[in-house]
Amino acid sequence: MEHFDCVVVGGGMVGAASALTIAQLGLKVAVVEKFPPKDFSAEQPLDLRVSAISLASQNLLNQVGAWQQVQQWRSCPYKRLGVWEHERAYTEFNADNIEQSHLGDIAENRLIQLALWQRMESMSNIHTYCPESLLSLNQDDNTGDNKVTLTLSNSVITAKLVIGADGAQSKVRQMSAIGMTGWDYQQSAMLINIETSLCQQDITWQKFSPTGPVAFLPLPGESSLGGYASLVWYHQRDEITRLAALSNSQLEHEILKCFPKQLGNIKVLSKGDFSLTRRHANTYQHKRILLLGDAAHTINPMAGQGVNLGFKDVLALQHVIAEAISHGEAWHDEVVLARYEKMRRKDNLLMMSTMDALYVGFSHPSPLIKAARNLALLAVNKVPVLNTSIKNKALAYACGL
Ligand SMILES: Cc1cc2nc3c(=O)[nH]c(=O)nc-3n(C[C@H](O)[C@H](O)[C@H](O)COP(=O)(O)OP(=O)(O)OC[C@H]3O[C@@H](n4cnc5c(N)ncnc54)[C@H](O)[C@@H]3O)c2cc1C
Repeated sequence: MEHFDCVVVGGGMVGAASALTIAQLGLKVAVVEKFPPKDFSAEQPLDLRVSAISLASQNLLNQVGAWQQVQQWRSCPYKRLGVWEHERAYTEFNADNIEQSHLGDIAENRLIQLALWQRMESMSNIHTYCPESLLSLNQDDNTGDNKVTLTLSNSVITAKLVIGADGAQSKVRQMSAIGMTGWDYQQSAMLINIETSLCQQDITWQKFSPTGPVAFLPLPGESSLGGYASLVWYHQRDEITRLAALSNSQLEHEILKCFPKQLGNIKVLSKGDFSLTRRHANTYQHKRILLLGDAAHTINPMAGQGVNLGFKDVLALQHVIAEAISHGEAWHDEVVLARYEKMRRKDNLLMMSTMDALYVGFSHPSPLIKAARNLALLAVNKVPVLNTSIKNKALAYACGL
């Protein structure tokens, strides 16, 4: 039976980044993942699952040596962020305002994961179990060593600390009986990859409406129409189900009818629909089990912050473990791990609640509330003192700075 300092269950973007940052501290790490990431070749079409990767997340990915590889493969930096409901309340955030070259990059989730896996392969203190699945966890160690035993499909391993980074439906969370609160939003989201005729690859924009926002995310590369982009269409669940059943050309027609004129001419390439849930684990750590990323919290993706919060968890955990090691403490002790929860819970909750306030505020049909939200956007854009203070603070926060 092999023993590790730390076993990470789930080798997605967050789990793989965490394995690397913990291995950087000299600990012996294992990663258990169900599906091996697929190799990259430049001819592969752009994947539907993309994320807006903040500057802070790019710093983390640089720290573990993965970001340069993602950029070499493909990603699309953006400099501007536009939001509006009423045309006259259009508000634009620009990287120049916070003295940055760009606000973030749109990158494919699978390429971020793959770049992290390539870095994991180069670390002699990381062992991967893949394809493998977690069958059971035993936190009750009678030997006095305080180990957790993990039974996988083909092996049994032990660890001082088990990290659940196995996503929204986390088995680790369920098996360790950590409860959670949450609900399903009334809206679903449809992701649509398109070719676009307009050259606007330096901006990501979002137009709000009471049925849900529609968003444009630029993607890298040149297409026969001009460029590529990812559209996100939020709407009532029934409407998204109807849209998902349409042919690409029927969907094109619907998009041109419902998206703002800023979109220009398009061709639909691929599409997929996703339900939206909010979940928050009641605790992030219990009896040598610790939760990270979507296993601990899932939020409305409206502001593209889900994986960015997960990467902040990763950095916080590395920080508390490093400090404990340098002070000669048992780094896997509950007292130490509680510091990670203290650092992250409030910040995650704040972002989740902000997204919910936006969701409720912008989907409210009352004309009075509609006028108030447009006035607020207008004020942030036009009143100089608000423009420089609130706007730039919000922008720096969204970039994770
Ligand atoms: C429509 C939509 C748009 C989004 N856009 C953005 C965005 O622009 N920016 C952003 O920051 N976030 C965005 N998000 C959120 C983001 O996708 C998630 O926060 C992120 O993928 C979470 O990463 P993770 O590694 O925690 O979990 P996951 O990506 O779910 O990875 C979990 C991993 O664990 C593995 N696994 C699961 N169970 C087991 C098991 N029992 N044994 C072994 N392995 C297991 C899985 O195979 C997977 O590889 C969006 C989400 C949605 C739904």
